[in-house]
Amino acid sequence: MSVLSTYRHHDLDGIRVGRFNLGVNTTFIVYRLGGTVIDTGPSNQWRHVRSFIESRPLEQLLLTHHHEDHSGNAGAIHRLTGIQPQAPALTADILRRGFRIPSLQRLFWGAAGRAEARPLPDQLIIGDERAEAIFTPGHAKDMHCYLLPERGWLFSADLYIANYLKMLRSDEDVATLLKSMRAVLARDFDTILCPHRGVVERGRERLQEKYDYLVSLAGEAQDLQRQGFQLNAITRRLLGKEDLVGIVSRYNFSKRNLIASCLEVDLADPGAPES
Ligand SMILES: [Zn+2]
Repeated sequence: MSVLSTYRHHDLDGIRVGRFNLGVNTTFIVYRLGGTVIDTGPSNQWRHVRSFIESRPLEQLLLTHHHEDHSGNAGAIHRLTGIQPQAPALTADILRRGFRIPSLQRLFWGAAGRAEARPLPDQLIIGDERAEAIFTPGHAKDMHCYLLPERGWLFSADLYIANYLKMLRSDEDVATLLKSMRAVLARDFDTILCPHRGVVERGRERLQEKYDYLVSLAGEAQDLQRQGFQLNAITRRLLGKEDLVGIVSRYNFSKRNLIASCLEVDLADPGAPES
């Protein structure tokens, strides 16, 4: 598989790469605004990412979190351009130590690349504009989104991807996701730049839909639990039978994880910031 498509949205450009073209979850968009590249794409797509990086002078490489599709080429880009990746402190820590990738993800993305990232600067600039890093754990404990307040753009990392999710990784947590979504929804933006879905107009509304969907799914799951249903039965009733990927991943990425995590959500004020 080669470069699947190129993106142009105002002054933003990007390429979508992926070993298998099986939809948004198996492909990845590397975005560039001015001299800044946000996330790197997976290591098994290095030759395509490399030509994209080489097509314009690179001034800054920002990472949103450590996952291999986002960081896999960070070390290679550093060696190629001399530009050291910048990442949240926790991300830099994980990339220094290295991390294990489940076999299914390794098949799609290749190996994790180690990288020496330095911390984000106090004054973050993307393109020529002031930007903010917003801490958004839940999908990954180190994840940050990057907001461009002046133009209302959000580089959303893996916070959005879809309005309706049907499966959850075993290391994801719905209650924490809801909190992160609420923190982001409190901000003003309208366009989401999702590395899987693409450019999402009316992105704030889409993210609100995802938040509302998860709260209502959690409510239904907890109702069924109160009626005496067990986890597997609740999952089947609300989301249907486990897909092949749930079984192949040994439930690492599954419907059952999503429902189990929904059962832990405090529905009194879901996603409320800690006081
Ligand atoms: Zn991720």
